[in-house]
Amino acid sequence: MKLTGSKLLVTAGPTVERIDPVRFISNHSTGKMGYAIAAELAARGAEVTLVSGPVALETPPGVRRVDVESAGDMWRECVALWPGMDGAVMCAAVADYTPAEVSPVKIKKEALTHPPDKADGNEPKDVSSHRELKPSEIMLRLIPTKDIAAELGRMKRPGQLLVGFALETDNEEANALGKLRRKNLDMIVLNSLRDAGAGFGGDTNRVTVFTSDGSKTCFPLESKTAAAAHIVDMLSESFKAAD
Ligand code: C5P
Repeated sequence: MKLTGSKLLVTAGPTVERIDPVRFISNHSTGKMGYAIAAELAARGAEVTLVSGPVALETPPGVRRVDVESAGDMWRECVALWPGMDGAVMCAAVADYTPAEVSPVKIKKEALTHPPDKADGNEPKDVSSHRELKPSEIMLRLIPTKDIAAELGRMKRPGQLLVGFALETDNEEANALGKLRRKNLDMIVLNSLRDAGAGFGGDTNRVTVFTSDGSKTCFPLESKTAAAAHIVDMLSESFKAAD
């Protein structure tokens, strides 16, 4: 099949997981890489739906953008859209954990401290260190979010192409290949936070693309726009090969 006229889903940006009306958990993703890919795909004639976390970027020309906030919102949109798509590029930096409860009112410091004179031995325990909380400490219970890419991988039908990203700090290649298999991806784009000029925020990236049939292609440090063009070239080749 051809890239021109194909229906493609792109996820981009961070997700925002609310703690209370004024606080949240998020990450440093700016959405630049995902937006560059969406722009490149649309420029080559694909029908692109961009499911985006909160970012400060203009919607690329010709792209349909769906704004979401949390990992749960992004999951619902993507799972609903996927059956009608020919492929997806999962660039979003989705939170792995979200607060177990969202407080409807701003959490006050006083409400969360445990006065020492009221300690009764039943205070919540910090599960990571197995010690009781100090009176001045609080515990935020986090629960895992659902893996959107892995869900699309499970739902994938023949002919659909699924591309993921891996941002790694160590054991880069092994981690990326593990994700390629576990999430049933056709392609994974690795960027290492160890590389100067790659990763969050900047305008450049150095990517390596692994495919499920065992190929490995390294690209030089280049602008995110140029990296997007290289990734889209590879996607286009895979579409042709799938015919
Ligand atoms: O496992 P990890 O988060 O490193 O995997 C990265 C890939 O999986 C990216 O393509 C990312 O967009 C996707 N992902 C997702 N939903 C999650 C976590 C990751 O779609 N909850």
